[in-house]
Amino acid sequence: MAAATFSTGASPVLSAGEALSCPEPAIPFRLDPVDVVTGLPDRHGFIEHLLNCCCRGEPFALMILDLNHFHVINNAMGHRVGDRVLRAVAERLQGRLREQDFIARIGSDEFALLIPGIVQHRQALIFGQHLLDALRRPLQLSEQRLYVEATLGGALWKDSTGDGDTLQQQAEIALFEAKQNKQPLVLYHDRFNGQQNRRLLLQHELVEAIRNNALSLHYQPIVDTVSGRITKLEALVRWRHPSLGYISPAEFVPVAEECGMVQALGDWVLQRACADLCRLQQAGYPLDMAVNRSSLEFQGLGLNGDEWLSVIERQGLSPRRIIFEITESLFMQGNEQHLERIQALREAGCRIAIDDFGTGYSALNYLRAFPIDLVKIDKSFIDHLPGNHRDGLLLEGILRIVGDLGMSVVMEGVESAAQAEYLAHQPCHYLQGYLIARPLALRELLPFLGSYAGHSVPAAD
Ligand code: C2E
Ligand code: MG
Ligand code: MG
Repeated sequence: MAAATFSTGASPVLSAGEALSCPEPAIPFRLDPVDVVTGLPDRHGFIEHLLNCCCRGEPFALMILDLNHFHVINNAMGHRVGDRVLRAVAERLQGRLREQDFIARIGSDEFALLIPGIVQHRQALIFGQHLLDALRRPLQLSEQRLYVEATLGGALWKDSTGDGDTLQQQAEIALFEAKQNKQPLVLYHDRFNGQQNRRLLLQHELVEAIRNNALSLHYQPIVDTVSGRITKLEALVRWRHPSLGYISPAEFVPVAEECGMVQALGDWVLQRACADLCRLQQAGYPLDMAVNRSSLEFQGLGLNGDEWLSVIERQGLSPRRIIFEITESLFMQGNEQHLERIQALREAGCRIAIDDFGTGYSALNYLRAFPIDLVKIDKSFIDHLPGNHRDGLLLEGILRIVGDLGMSVVMEGVESAAQAEYLAHQPCHYLQGYLIARPLALRELLPFLGSYAGHSVPAAD
């Protein structure tokens, strides 16, 4: 592996955002590694080396490797263990590199690699996979064995416009894309420009939409499997843009998180959902309302949950009517304060649901550690049922464990009568899905509730 080379003419320290230009002819010399934890060159060393590679004009790839959930290791096991993990990862990666390759640690859990000779995307994908494979076996840290996972974003010099800044930005965009889509490895591609532009446009338009009250809510009914009646609704936010058309919350909620608007969005949703729940109560439907709140919103909430509770109480509603849906990612942060917030909301009477259960990591552990009332099992667990033996075993196991722990189960994404029939013979408390109804605007919901005759529950064997 090559060490960083520095020009004696130019300043050895360049900030990450600083434009990169070709230095005076470099007199290369070895510099002591600068990152004290791993012994690798640090961000400055990386920038110098990237600059030299660009000036050489020969093809190479830049890859940025980011460890997944490293903060969880740091929080749960302490920084000493975190440092050991970083050292072990650095060693593993170095073991996969050739003499001419370069590696640096450029952020707390980010490594940058410069790989000469890569001309095609296929080569880069193979090399990237080769790097990820290095982390497949557990790390041995004195007495502990630890598994780590990483995400890679890459960009090829031959695709780039020629300067190191752009190449670095492209690799960061690819990494961001990989993280968003939960893919292990993504290479920068021209079409990302379009996607990035859309994201920026959405950020701008979303601020306006929230300000101008241009969002709306739809409500999806949830049926109690014992009574066959609709007892709950889930509030789902909708955005119909005048020129871009319908934009899915799966696309714009992350955008709201990125641009710091998610709190405003969540507050608007909670307020609107509470107001509509009041109208439903007045119309003779005493239902519960489930509201999605993203993990980021929890961070802004006071430890006694007052901001949310006061919205509910201002509408004259009992907190017992409100369910907050949160995802596993919240629990993965290993933050003690989240537990306090959850307890405060529950003490006030609200219930907590864990959403899309089973799509995150080591999910069962969270059931043990956190006080949860409802578990919403992700649609993917029912997609191939009935009829798939393995999927059946898995779902039935989850239903049994959740039920035995005293929590209620909502099965999401129930689309067919055959699925409902199958679930009728399982310990599943609630059904939600297109079979019952799609999410409906309030004006559609009221007649729907009026005419709903109840979900017929097949008799148990
Ligand atoms: P989610 O909370 O898991 O909501 C369920 C999603 O599954 C909804 O998609 C719903 O329309 C869809 N769905 C329900 N039944 C079926 C079915 O039978 N088949 C299929 N194929 N899909 C079904 P939607 O409304 O597009 O929302 C996507 C995600 O966006 C939600 O997933 C939630 O994570 C997020 N989201 C929606 N509204 C809000 C909100 O107000 N705040 C936050 N933070 N996130 C929201
Ligand atoms: Mg939900
Ligand atoms: Mg869900």
